[in-house]
Amino acid sequence: KKTITRLPEWLKTPIPTNTNYKKIKHDLRGLGLHTVCEEARCPNISSCWGGSSKSAATATIMLMGDTCTRGCRFCSVKTSRTPPPLDPHEPENTAEALSRWGLGYVVLTSVDRDDLADGGARHFAETIRRIKAKRSDILVEALTGDFWGNLEMVDVVAQSGLDVYAHNVETVEALTPGVRDRRATFRQSLSVLQRAKEAKEGLITKTSIMLGLGETEEQLWETLRELRKHDVDVVTFGQYMRPTKRHLPVHEYVTPTVFELWRQRALDMGFLYCASGPLVRSSYKAGEAFIENVLK
Ligand code: SF4
Ligand code: SF4
Repeated sequence: KKTITRLPEWLKTPIPTNTNYKKIKHDLRGLGLHTVCEEARCPNISSCWGGSSKSAATATIMLMGDTCTRGCRFCSVKTSRTPPPLDPHEPENTAEALSRWGLGYVVLTSVDRDDLADGGARHFAETIRRIKAKRSDILVEALTGDFWGNLEMVDVVAQSGLDVYAHNVETVEALTPGVRDRRATFRQSLSVLQRAKEAKEGLITKTSIMLGLGETEEQLWETLRELRKHDVDVVTFGQYMRPTKRHLPVHEYVTPTVFELWRQRALDMGFLYCASGPLVRSSYKAGEAFIENVLK
């Protein structure tokens, strides 16, 4: 199998300079929040934290620790069958810190916690309720795992007062077994997304797909058709980047033109909005997109 190592020009990113970004970064100190944006050194931090306005400023917060019970072949998060117990103060502390931060849109995500009876669903829900109690104007997206197919746990999160329910299929069905942990299946993910949509009227559902893993054009078309069939509202496309040599190799660096093509195709198929680009992550400028397409 061929391996590509040289990075094309469009993946080389400038250092953040946006002044809003600098202010938020300054405010963040001392709040004790762990942002995925900073910890993953996400190249979009300036455009997400900066936003087009304060109400559009977006960040992603990691809940339930840094150790996952699963091991997906594209992901660099550390793995253990017995991660440390949850911090019972995390929902309140997160809500308190967010209420002082001044973000418009927050994405809450977590590692998978198959070791917990509820997969961490109640912890997620409690965090969302406390955020909304302190700042009802902050838009909340939860990016959850699949709760190992326990769809009642999807209800617990979906009915907690959030605005967007996100769960990532990550790749096309045929590649799923080689890409995601064996406990994750494409069909299970579709049922999570559909259940979230059914659990609460008006809830926006969202998923994300990595390109460059060897998927074919026809497989991508089929994936989009399945997502629409399961009432998924929003899709994003980004380039798969190999975190270390122990992870899956990049099959292809997809060009910005092709990303734009998929964005158009998704919109034509009826998705509410679509972020698509080499550096796009599922939370990329999510606040701005929500304000422009849902609140308009
Ligand atoms: Fe943070 Fe997501 Fe934006 Fe990256 S894309 S800066 S992780 S909100
Ligand atoms: Fe990474 Fe999520 Fe897979 Fe865990 S479940 S290994 S955090 S992608």
